[in-house]
Amino acid sequence: MKSIINLTFDEMWDKIMACDRTYDGQFYTTVKTTKIYCRPSCKSRKPKKINVDFYDDIVAVERAGFRACKRCQPEVEHSPHTQLIKNVTSFLIKEYKQQLTLQDIANNVGISPFYLERLFKQETAETPRRYLEKIRIDKATHLLKSTDRTTLAICYDVGFHSPSNFYKVFRRLNKCSPTEYRNMHS
Ligand SMILES: [Zn+2]
Repeated sequence: MKSIINLTFDEMWDKIMACDRTYDGQFYTTVKTTKIYCRPSCKSRKPKKINVDFYDDIVAVERAGFRACKRCQPEVEHSPHTQLIKNVTSFLIKEYKQQLTLQDIANNVGISPFYLERLFKQETAETPRRYLEKIRIDKATHLLKSTDRTTLAICYDVGFHSPSNFYKVFRRLNKCSPTEYRNMHS
């Protein structure tokens, strides 16, 4: 695996199984047997885990001889704002533990908070705040499955400052409580 983003192999695997659009542009799935590469959200039949590798750099993927999937077209930039959105999401994936205001995120990519919010919503159908919540909750689900840390410790680990907000957002995204989630996946 070749990755500089803040995700383990199993986290990326979970995201491709869920066809999760949240991480499109952040990494690519390559399949050894077919020599094809995909976006995380690709809806094609899932490869075997043993044949999969993840890259965060499309140039390296192409150089390694993989061809773009015709279905999800990972090599096509669907909008002129793709790079900017990618910069925002990689900042959020890297800094999710920090207290981030819209202003902090906007400063990082060099545009105004107003423009950031409008553009981000237009491109992803989410606000940056909602996106950050999704990234934090994804981290929490991974920690619930792979560690025995308490749900309260995990709440603070992933950047929430209020347990009640953590439980509320967790339930909105996973339709269950953190404890129920852990019981279902252990
Ligand atoms: Zn694909």
